[in-house]
Parts: sequence; structure tokens; C-alpha cells
Amino acid sequence: MKVLGIESSCDETGVALVEAAESGTPRLLAQALHTQIDMHQAYGGVVPELASRDHIRRVVPLARQVLGEAGATLADVDVVAFTRGPGLAGALLVGAGVACSLAAALGRPAYGVHHLEGHLLSPFLSSDPPAFPFVALLVSGGHTQLLRVDGVGRYALLGETIDDAAGEAFDKSAQLLGLGYPGGPALARLATFGDPTVFTLPRPLLHSANLDFSFAGLKTAVRQQALKLGPNVCEQDRAHLAAATERAIVDVLVHKSIAALRRTGLDRLVVAGGVSANLTLRELLGAAAARRGVRVHYPEPALCTDNGAMIALAAAMRLQHEPLGAGDGYAFDVKPRWPLATEPVAA
Ligand code: ATP
Ligand code: MG
Ligand code: FE
Repeated sequence: MKVLGIESSCDETGVALVEAAESGTPRLLAQALHTQIDMHQAYGGVVPELASRDHIRRVVPLARQVLGEAGATLADVDVVAFTRGPGLAGALLVGAGVACSLAAALGRPAYGVHHLEGHLLSPFLSSDPPAFPFVALLVSGGHTQLLRVDGVGRYALLGETIDDAAGEAFDKSAQLLGLGYPGGPALARLATFGDPTVFTLPRPLLHSANLDFSFAGLKTAVRQQALKLGPNVCEQDRAHLAAATERAIVDVLVHKSIAALRRTGLDRLVVAGGVSANLTLRELLGAAAARRGVRVHYPEPALCTDNGAMIALAAAMRLQHEPLGAGDGYAFDVKPRWPLATEPVAA
């Protein structure tokens, strides 16, 4: 079974082709990505209407490129998958519209995928894929969740952020430090020149009894510290503040992940979503996990942020478990808001 996947939930257009046998981990044949970061940078964030229009321009050429690189044609495509949600409504509609039209023209099924399920399963395409069951730390631009994962479609929410997501905390702090959008990678780069202990920042909910997160207060503390340093802050102090910010976010993520492992008694951890690219997180989590005999699995660096491969993969893994029913044909809707862990539990 060859699945063509289309991701268009936010500011990346991603297309990929995966091949899946009846069981076993699907294989990535080719993928292509266009990021709109340059286009949105001038506005300091994603402009939804511009995002939708750009997805329209990019998706067909990217699909052609992927099929070409895979040595395949449209006739080889068995299923067309797309991101059904969550995300920007207009952006989602582009991917859904293209996927369903293409599927109808080919006489093949279309399949809507949950974007976070894509992130969650993306480490299965890595050279060190996980095995079920595991604890998942989902850390992206819009979400921060800990889940217990017992299989495809079997997700139980253990805790989540009560305000900002971890990626959002990176991005907003980066903005306060005068770094561009999205600021996560830029803040992480600046942090490598700083000492995380020079400035003291709060670690909200670090010792709370539950597995929830809160990052809004951290952003306020970064703002206050930045104001104290003033507009003529030296480069070294900016780096110290970036390092302190990164360390505060990472400390909470590490601490809560370990707590979730302890609570569930599991010894495997999957970290996915854009923030899983962060090297300080990987280093500190790796050390904490090693002390407890826990194995940690990540997506390949290129598959941490949004991409089409994870969408094609999630569709393929779902379809290995639950064959397509009669379904809705080619009628489609999108779900801009869509919780992951209330998904029906697969048998
Ligand atoms: P969601 O998946 O929740 O809908 P999204 O798709 O916008 O949100 P992703 O593409 O998974 O999010 O990740 C983007 C986020 O990851 C941004 O907030 C970005 O700053 C952050 N990010 C990417 N690389 C790094 C890094 N090296 N360090 C810290 N943060 C990073
Ligand atoms: Mg993005
Ligand atoms: Fe994402």
C-alpha cells in the first residue's frame, strides 16, 4: 500500500509518499517540504490568509516532486492522506480539498489524519523506532502534552499545558529577546553562548502533584528581566537570558516526563513535535533517562517540525490496524480544534 500524505495545517506545506506492508513499520519513499517562514517573518507570526494562499501554490508542485523522486506515478497511489486538524481552518481546507479531489479523480480513498498523531508517530520513521507501549511527550508550537500510548489510536492523556505550549514559550521569549519568528531555533542557538545560571527564572508547576504544565508565567518573567536589562543590553547578557529561558523550559519538560514514566511504570519515552529538535532537551532528558534505564526515541531532525511524511505515516499505520470502512466518500470537513486523546480506542 502506497500512501500519499499532505500536510497543510499551518505554515509548512509538506507532501510525502510512504509504503506499508500489512504489518511492520511503513517506509518513507520520498518527501518534500516548503516552509512559509520567510513570508510570515515580516509580520512576526503566521498570517492565516497568506498561509492558505501559499499552500494552494505549493501543494501540486510538491506532490509532483515527491512522486518523481520516488519513481512513482499517480497510478501507484493507493490512499491520499491529509491533515484534517487541528490547525488553521483555511490552511487545512487547502490540503483536504486537494487530497479529496485527487483521491476522487484516482478512484482511491482519501483519509483524514490528526496532526498530533502524525507528530506522535513520527519517530517510527527514525533509525531507532520505538515499540508500544510508551509515554509520549508532545512538544510543539501549539501543544504540550504527556500521553500514555498503548498502540495506534490508543492514547490516554496524562497531563497538558494549562496555558502556553512549550514551543510558544520559546517563540514568545525569543520575540522579547529581539529574535525573529519562529524564535525557538534562534533562541536555542543564542543560548549556546550563555550560562543558564546567571539569571533565575521560574519553573512553573515543577513540583505540582499532577502532570500539567504552565509556561505563561515564564514569559512574563523573561519580559521583566529583559526590561531590567534595558534596550542596550549586551550580547553576553542576551545569551545568558536565552540560556536561562531554555533551561527553565527544558527542566520542567524533563522533570514531568520522568514523573510520567514513574507513574505509568513504563520504560520507554517518545518525544515529538518541533521542540523535540532542541539539543539541550535531548541532552538533559538523555541523562535523566539513562539514570533510570529509560530509552528515549525522537523523530529524525528533519521530521521534528511539520512535514508530510508524518501524515502519510500516521494514515498508513492507522490503515494497518483498521481497514477503511465505506466512509464518507469524498465529502470532507476539517477540524481546526480536535483533541487527540479522546479519539476512539482501536481494538
Ligand atoms: P502544533 O503541532 O501544536 O499544531 P506547530 O505545528 O506549529 O504546532 P511544530 O511544527 O511541531 O508546531 O513545531 C514548531 C515549534 O517548534 C515552534 O514553536 C518552534 O519554535 C519550535 N522549535 C523548533 N525547533 C526548535 C529548537 N531547536 N528549540 C526549541 N524550539 C524549537
Ligand atoms: Mg511551522
Ligand atoms: Fe505541528
